[in-house]
Amino acid sequence: MSDTPPVALAIAGTDSGGGAGLTADVRAFTACGVHGAVAVAAVTVQNSVGVQDFHPIPPEVVAAQIRAVAGDMGVDAAKTGMLASTAIITAVVEAGDQVGLGTRVPFVVDPVAASMHGHALLAPEALEAVRTLLIPRATLVTPNLDEVRLLVGVEVVDDDTAREAARALLDLGAGAALVKGGHLEGSADVVDLLVLADGTEHRFTSPRRSTEHTHGGGDSLASSITAGLARGMALVEAVALGKAYITRAVEHAYPLGAGHGPVSSVW
Ligand code: PLP
Repeated sequence: MSDTPPVALAIAGTDSGGGAGLTADVRAFTACGVHGAVAVAAVTVQNSVGVQDFHPIPPEVVAAQIRAVAGDMGVDAAKTGMLASTAIITAVVEAGDQVGLGTRVPFVVDPVAASMHGHALLAPEALEAVRTLLIPRATLVTPNLDEVRLLVGVEVVDDDTAREAARALLDLGAGAALVKGGHLEGSADVVDLLVLADGTEHRFTSPRRSTEHTHGGGDSLASSITAGLARGMALVEAVALGKAYITRAVEHAYPLGAGHGPVSSVW
């Protein structure tokens, strides 16, 4: 028998193709040495080509999953991904407050709005709930550049605008913001800028890989950071773990189906 590992909880959507969402989260949790628990917020009908449809889970069922996990095995860190609607965000926040997400328990908010193919995974009117309910509770918020534009209206093109975006997210109440540069065309490296509430900055750089197969990359970064936090790492150390994990995951991504293959979880 082994010792009980730390527990990380992902509150997000499924991907029937096994590439992104909760499947990527649980793979990252396992690879990074923590037990992965899941609160399913939505079921997507999805393959490597795209998201064909999704079905939101009743908000009270999402909340009940969070309470069931926290009340039994405890949660050492949690993350959100696809939450689909304002009603689900509200239920997550209510249950999260009861179990200490963002206060006692580190809470990573990945503000998932759309898939890499451009399919909406969040109702447009729910952006306001992300801004006013989720982000103020976040230990860390991890938007890509499209999500930055939607949330704070900043077009990130360089370091200065990435910093401006991070500060706008901190102004919404996040404990820290990681602005992910992966979608910035033309740069040789992928630079992710982490800004903490005290204004401290850290840059995480990796070589850009030319691959079509990055499905689930954003989820995997947020969940590997969450795993680090569940293991008791300080935030900067957990982000460094996440950056190392995702860099390797993209290097070892593989083709699958007719569309975009997933990042790997070999670690
Ligand atoms: N499906 C689900 C359930 C997700 O949570 C996400 C991303 O967060 C995606 C699909 C999209 O992943 P990608 O943009 O890597 O294709």
